[in-house]
Amino acid sequence: MHQDSQRFGPQLQPNMVEVAYCEVHLEPAWLFCEDDQVTLCSTCFQSPEHKHHVVHGVQQAAESYRKLFQEILNTLKEKVEVTKSILCDEQERMMMIQEEEQNFKEMIESEYRTRLRVLSEEDEGHLLRAPGCRPALSLGEASRNQFFEAAAELVENPQGTLQRLSHLGRENMNKLKESEVRVCQQICSLQSFTTELEKKCRGPTLALLKDAKYCLERSESLLVQCLQPAHLTDLSLCSPGMSKMPRALHRRVTLDPRTAHPCLVLSEDLRSVTVGNTWQDVPGSPGRFDFGATVLGIESFSSGRHYWEVEVEKATKWQLGICQDPAHRRGPMPTASGDKVLLMGAVMGTECTFWVFPPLKKVSLRKPMHKAGLFLDCEYGHISFYNVTQRTLIYNFSQLPFQGPVRPVFSLCIPNGDTNSDSLTVSSGHAPSRSDDC
Ligand SMILES: [Zn+2]
Ligand SMILES: [Zn+2]
Repeated sequence: MHQDSQRFGPQLQPNMVEVAYCEVHLEPAWLFCEDDQVTLCSTCFQSPEHKHHVVHGVQQAAESYRKLFQEILNTLKEKVEVTKSILCDEQERMMMIQEEEQNFKEMIESEYRTRLRVLSEEDEGHLLRAPGCRPALSLGEASRNQFFEAAAELVENPQGTLQRLSHLGRENMNKLKESEVRVCQQICSLQSFTTELEKKCRGPTLALLKDAKYCLERSESLLVQCLQPAHLTDLSLCSPGMSKMPRALHRRVTLDPRTAHPCLVLSEDLRSVTVGNTWQDVPGSPGRFDFGATVLGIESFSSGRHYWEVEVEKATKWQLGICQDPAHRRGPMPTASGDKVLLMGAVMGTECTFWVFPPLKKVSLRKPMHKAGLFLDCEYGHISFYNVTQRTLIYNFSQLPFQGPVRPVFSLCIPNGDTNSDSLTVSSGHAPSRSDDC
């Protein structure tokens, strides 16, 4: 009893003196039939109607309902808190998706601007060497076809992509608003039922027993309702497809053994890197990096446009990108990864997660990726990361703050006692050959 009075509080103390009268037999109804949810007098109780029913004393029945309702009230209050936090999350997502849409829009615009630059440069080269002007120097058939393909792709109006993006953004916002309404409604019904139940618990015994079973059923159906946050469509659906990179931009990147982390093993042709399973820790040199097991490309880019591809399918955790050439870095060696621009991938079971840096930001890909493409435009400080497998843009960065040359960077995860045979391979790509040039 002591425990109960603590739990109910003084205002919820049951009223012990209340008695109902049977309207049929005009006797006090001390009993309560659980099956029929009615009070019974001793004559009612003996009738065949209630013979097989569960019957308790009125006070006993009321007590057990009161206890049950109190437990339900606690659960209801927890549920209200959980639902309120869902509401907060949905409202936060509304802000976030607007920002995300704006970022995406800027990314698409800068992607198309870059493509136009690439194409106009190609165009100039094409005109200079057009068959009519300089027949002896005409483009090879393959290069010319490639040029026309690229031109045709770029004719696709970027406005179309932006319209799809804004349509998707509106759809997502509507989904969130609908979800917000649903969550608010649930909070309302949870709160009004809580008030009703509290009133019932505080009220007289007979009022408590009235519709008690119905109250239980209603609370059950309220508590069982589980609202899911709105399922939003990924904006990456609007990612611009990847145009064919002109052959002249493909680079044969090779790996620089002098910059390789000691746990990395480079292939003989310097185009593949694998994590060695046993390695001796050696003191770090200033040319080495602090994050994971890293190796740089030999090539150092300070002007022009460059494109290279890397096979990532044999790595579970990897990073690709560019970093400031340590040989040309001015000032002290940065301690964080602040001198890099990276695309990162991590495979955990069947889940693939991708990030870009800086700042660290999760990017979503609709399908797993086997090969990544990196396009660098030094003049405009622009880098684009492509999913070559799906031929889509993953992410791009513009106006990079780098001064001086940059080099390709490749990182794998240092094995932590377990066996790990992650590897990255630079694709042979389509580097220009003599026959392409003529
Ligand atoms: Zn009776
Ligand atoms: Zn009965």
